[in-house]
Amino acid sequence: MSGQKIVVLGTGGTIAGTSAQAGDNIGYTAGQVGVAQLLDAVPGLQTMAGELLIEQVAQIDSKDMDIEVWRALALRCTHHLKDPEVRGIVITHGTDTLEETAWFLHEVLDARKPVVLTCAMRPSTALIPDGPQNLLDAVAVAVAPGATGVLAVAAGEVHGARHVQKMHPYRVHAFASADVGPLGFVEEGQVRLTRNWPLALDGEALIAIENIANVDPWPRVEIVVSHAGATGSMVDALVRDGVQGLVVACTGNGTIHHHLEAALLRAQAAGVAVVRATRCPEGQVLPKPGDPLPDSQGLSPVKARIALMLNLLR
Ligand code: ASP
Repeated sequence: MSGQKIVVLGTGGTIAGTSAQAGDNIGYTAGQVGVAQLLDAVPGLQTMAGELLIEQVAQIDSKDMDIEVWRALALRCTHHLKDPEVRGIVITHGTDTLEETAWFLHEVLDARKPVVLTCAMRPSTALIPDGPQNLLDAVAVAVAPGATGVLAVAAGEVHGARHVQKMHPYRVHAFASADVGPLGFVEEGQVRLTRNWPLALDGEALIAIENIANVDPWPRVEIVVSHAGATGSMVDALVRDGVQGLVVACTGNGTIHHHLEAALLRAQAAGVAVVRATRCPEGQVLPKPGDPLPDSQGLSPVKARIALMLNLLR
């Protein structure tokens, strides 16, 4: 039986951004307005949420997201999710790395209650800011009957952590779940699902959270890209520098330039964990018997990096 409290955790982003000139949609500074002030500006939010508990976990532009903020966020979420009074969590976040934080939290939280990330493409000083509606919609999802899992809500759509991806650098409708479409829609405060809520991870997640709290630094995993004219020199340099894992953003169905591939096989032989993800925005690598490098099982390069880092951490 879940409680009535909705926890809102602020981390910054454009939703909390301000520009000197009202209506400037690109020349603003992210992470300026406190999350309590953002919530105050949304009529009807308090009524929809019931009891609200507000915490500012960070105040950053999410392009600068780092392990310290992830650690703090995961620990605050774990704390609140355990509270029987808490019904769900809403996290305000920048759009740039929202999909990474969503996947990270999906991997580490026992999200049998909803953990809903939301954001904005326009700063709070825009002529028509999108943040207030997104916040209201995120709360609607957090209080929706049966909601579970780590979710993202923006532009009237609900996405699951696995597939959500920022697709556009400017337009307000910037997110999609390319292969599968949105998990649902928020319409006038009501959630209309297209399929079931995502299943929350448990057991394994609970082990990970201890490691997240106690291990410092986390394993170092970098991303390299296969492209025309690629060489292996970056991989060789990273191995010399002590990298523990590498994700390669491959062309097409997991193919890699032969110079880069040779370096990745050398890295793997030297004990570095190497994973292939496709750089195509849709679809996933279909592995063939005898592939020398494992694939990311459908995760995009940035999410595969997080999965590999957490696997090494486990
Ligand atoms: N750079 C901003 C951020 O990710 C972009 C945004 O939120 O839309 O924090």
